[in-house]
Amino acid sequence: VEFRTPEALADAERWTAHNYHPLPVVVAEAEGAWVTDVDGRRYLDMLAGYSALNFGHRHPALIAAAHAQLDRLTLTSRAFVHDQFGAFCRALAELCGKDLVLPMNTGAEAVETAVKVGRKWGYQVKGVPDGQAEIIVADGNFHGRTTTIVSFSTDPEARADFGPYTPGFVVVPYGDAVALEAAITPNTVAVLLEPIQGEGGVVIPPAGYFARVREACTAAGVLLVADEIQSGLGRTGKTFAIEYEGVVPDMYVLGKALGGGIVPVSAVAANRDVLGVLKPGEHGSTFGGNALACAVGSAVVGLLRTGEFQERSARLGARLEAGLSALIGKGLVAVRCRGLWAGVDIDPALMTGRDACERLAARGVLAKDTHGSTIRLAPPLVVSEADLDHAVAQLAAVLAA
Ligand code: PLP
Repeated sequence: VEFRTPEALADAERWTAHNYHPLPVVVAEAEGAWVTDVDGRRYLDMLAGYSALNFGHRHPALIAAAHAQLDRLTLTSRAFVHDQFGAFCRALAELCGKDLVLPMNTGAEAVETAVKVGRKWGYQVKGVPDGQAEIIVADGNFHGRTTTIVSFSTDPEARADFGPYTPGFVVVPYGDAVALEAAITPNTVAVLLEPIQGEGGVVIPPAGYFARVREACTAAGVLLVADEIQSGLGRTGKTFAIEYEGVVPDMYVLGKALGGGIVPVSAVAANRDVLGVLKPGEHGSTFGGNALACAVGSAVVGLLRTGEFQERSARLGARLEAGLSALIGKGLVAVRCRGLWAGVDIDPALMTGRDACERLAARGVLAKDTHGSTIRLAPPLVVSEADLDHAVAQLAAVLAA
């Protein structure tokens, strides 16, 4: 037999910029929580497209919505209105409990939208002097890759050699409400935070952190913006991860799973007093809110409205946490879990996160390392109990080898 993987890998290596270092797996097909490579090998997907595939690969309801829309209309641009637009915005606004939605495409674009809206709100509503708006962000954040967003990254890899940097951001330690309160000035317009830091390694802030941040923002007239691009839409066992804190942000930033793993769909959701600051011509996107995106996005919101995925994530997440916790002292030094989302710290004396992921892939389990010896597990929420047990068993075998 001739294997197709080496040639496909060589082509990718030869013809693309090396801004990623992928595991040596070439996927050709997928369904649910499983993918098949070009040589017919099957892998359990424990990454789910960095949570863009919360509903699994090719969920039938999402595929049906996409097919039906492909046969009717795909794009008009926002110069005209199409018949999927209002329904999607309404469904998403209602899911978020907000007045208005602004659809974009990628996560980074939605974060940029939040930054622009926060600043404009600061000048027009709060009365901050022109050009003086400050946005508070956290150490260890990940909000995307645009020049403005990497300007407030604290990760040298993400940031170095991409300056000059956009000013107007203040970095405070993540999880430290006292430091955040102290950083608020009369020019602070927004606080932008991940409810759980995903790229940071599934870092969960101390209980009560967001409640205190919410209080400080309300007291000072500052917008609390929750970047739920990776943590939201069922991943943690609730629609939004910030619900665990009993907190409602002024703005949600959403992406990834909103497009069902089919099309890039992102959005911000906020009330009229905030999103209403944008007037025609001040912000937009050719593809933002296109008909295909809205049809798929509406189907995604439909799945989330059932609560079934949130419930599965909470229930199966407890099983995953129990399985992983049993490996602490047997190759793992720490495990952080919320729903079907786990940050797993491997004993650095044993191997790097990259080594662990390569060995897992050789055993038919796909996961991704982040920072050094941490790996992140975020399976599609349709994963079965047997699949999860299999993934934990394979990790145990990798650690024991
Ligand atoms: N914000 C968070 C919390 C993310 O995890 C990501 C992607 O990993 C982004 C923003 C950027 O999203 P995108 O890659 O779609 O631009």
